[in-house]
Amino acid sequence: MKLRLLTLLCLPLISFAARAQFTDPNGGDLERGVLPQAWMTGGPKCMEIPEWQVHEYNPDLYILRQSGCTDAEMPFLYLFFGKDRGLLWDTGSRNGNLAPALQHVVHNWLERNHRASIPVIVTHSHSHEDHVWGDSAIRALNDPAIPIIFVPAKVADTQVFFHIASWPDGLGEVDLGERVLNIVPIPGHDIVSIALYDRRTGILLTGDSLYPGRLYIPDFASFQASTERLIRFIEGKPVAHVLGNHIEQTRTPFLDFPIGSIYHPDEHALDLTFGTLLELEDGLKSMNGTPRRLAMRDFTIWPLSPGDHGLGAKMEEIYKQTQEKQLRDKWDQPK
Ligand SMILES: [Zn+2]
Ligand SMILES: [Zn+2]
Repeated sequence: MKLRLLTLLCLPLISFAARAQFTDPNGGDLERGVLPQAWMTGGPKCMEIPEWQVHEYNPDLYILRQSGCTDAEMPFLYLFFGKDRGLLWDTGSRNGNLAPALQHVVHNWLERNHRASIPVIVTHSHSHEDHVWGDSAIRALNDPAIPIIFVPAKVADTQVFFHIASWPDGLGEVDLGERVLNIVPIPGHDIVSIALYDRRTGILLTGDSLYPGRLYIPDFASFQASTERLIRFIEGKPVAHVLGNHIEQTRTPFLDFPIGSIYHPDEHALDLTFGTLLELEDGLKSMNGTPRRLAMRDFTIWPLSPGDHGLGAKMEEIYKQTQEKQLRDKWDQPK
């Protein structure tokens, strides 16, 4: 009896241990990298802010962040390098002018690695305008050092390129040359949303489906099912960081920047964790199938009415007012 009780008491510990990935806190076999303490956003002086901030996570992974001085969406892009190919995740938002920044990074990588050229796969977290705006310029890039392999942000093309047998239940992958990236379809925010897991660094990219900000959900049932599938896929794998496409939260818990902000002083960190993904799952479950807005510490679950991609009159007004004020002050934002 006592033994049985002890066994029962140990069960939660056993299932918890199944999630721990390494026996010692020595970094495991993951390739390491660093994230910046803070990102440039849009100021205080737009004259000082580059169109794209390039951050070296490590020599084979770069994070590019678009300046708020060019567009309030300020998306993050990710550029992975393998032995044979590179992969770019998204092409930026309006007025992004990505091509020169991309060429700068790839040419420097080639010089560093004593190479003449490397093909780059261009793929997307999803199809919204703030992530595909730079597509035409990148497709038109005529640089013999960077042959572009372009994957349109459409379900059929994504499925074929990553060999996803069934959508959204199947899994896909691509090998960049000693660097395998796993792809998980996660529709809900958009019909063609995908997540990407990099086995080398343990980084999980979640696009607009999980980031420190407002998670807009036009298709709640699909979004919840996708969150469950993503958790099932990632369980048992080490997760170094969960990285999304935007930051809209401040460092103050439960507080976001007004929609339309181009300047984010005291911005929340980009990186979230596997725990944040479980928190998202928990928040969705708590609604028992009846979607409602729910502000969590680091993000907000924001269901939209089915088929309606607009954010409503109140948000439109906040957007307009914030943009007017911050664009007027873009050369010298009040501190
Ligand atoms: Zn989106
Ligand atoms: Zn977005």
